[in-house]
Amino acid sequence: MAEKNHVKECETECVTVPAASCPCREVYEEGAALLAGMEDASLDARLLLEHFCGISTHRLLADPDLPVSAPEREAFLEGIRRRAAREPLAYILGEQIFMGLPFMVSPDVLIPEQDTENLVEEALRYLEDDSRILDLCTGSGCILLSLLRYSNGCTGTGTDISAPALRLAGENARALGLSGRCRWFQGDLFAALDPGVRFDLIISNPPYVPTVVIETLEPEVREAQPRLALDGGPDGLAFYRRIIREASGFLMIGGRLMLEIGHDQAEAVRTLLEEAGYYGIEIIRDYGGNDRVVTAVRSMKQRM
Ligand code: GLN
Repeated sequence: MAEKNHVKECETECVTVPAASCPCREVYEEGAALLAGMEDASLDARLLLEHFCGISTHRLLADPDLPVSAPEREAFLEGIRRRAAREPLAYILGEQIFMGLPFMVSPDVLIPEQDTENLVEEALRYLEDDSRILDLCTGSGCILLSLLRYSNGCTGTGTDISAPALRLAGENARALGLSGRCRWFQGDLFAALDPGVRFDLIISNPPYVPTVVIETLEPEVREAQPRLALDGGPDGLAFYRRIIREASGFLMIGGRLMLEIGHDQAEAVRTLLEEAGYYGIEIIRDYGGNDRVVTAVRSMKQRM
């Protein structure tokens, strides 16, 4: 039930105050209508309502007359307009859940994807207490930080070429209480690392989309997410070539390299690993049945 405009009486003047609130059901429906035709329109509208107005789906259903103030309604509708313009929901909310943990995100970083949880879950099988982990192209830090969160005593280093991405990774580490177990270095892949440092696990979800394919992706990826984090060069393999060549210099003998890959890149990446002398090469599928992770072990004969 909408509240009527009301008049506030003061000693010297009358001030007209606009309608102070609207029922949440009406506000929600107004927002959902603006997203009509988009995938997940009603889910996104409900999540935006919760974020901007503090009204959960449960409250929305149980108490449709719950009032939403005018400023909250305006903030919600602004969120809806951004979403209607194909801005990803995670950037509007400023957060994405990954491995059950909340990560702050901004347009400086790729939004953590469910596909990448396969990489983390696979890596957790190999981590031992006190493993030293290097995460290349760390972005929001979601891979490294979830590995640290779900293991005992492991320590980690994250590198990224983007300074704003690393700032966000640092904030995520603080928010998750993991700052004491990780360090961040700005640089191109291994460039910022001390040449003598060695890791037990090197992990990465590098940019792997072939340049021309980027244009075919959804606007939420193509327009909104950092191209730097997507563009894998003409054949999508540019970062795998460099990582596979250089990683042996930073891995312990017997240390493991784990990479997220695009669904059609497994054989090309396997060949690169074989040529570089890695062994124990395995390709792991995601829950959708696509090749998603490649792992291999550094051998004695590879260069230090
Ligand atoms: N998963 C992203 C996509 O194909 C690509 C991520 C990446 O390049 N690492 O939309």
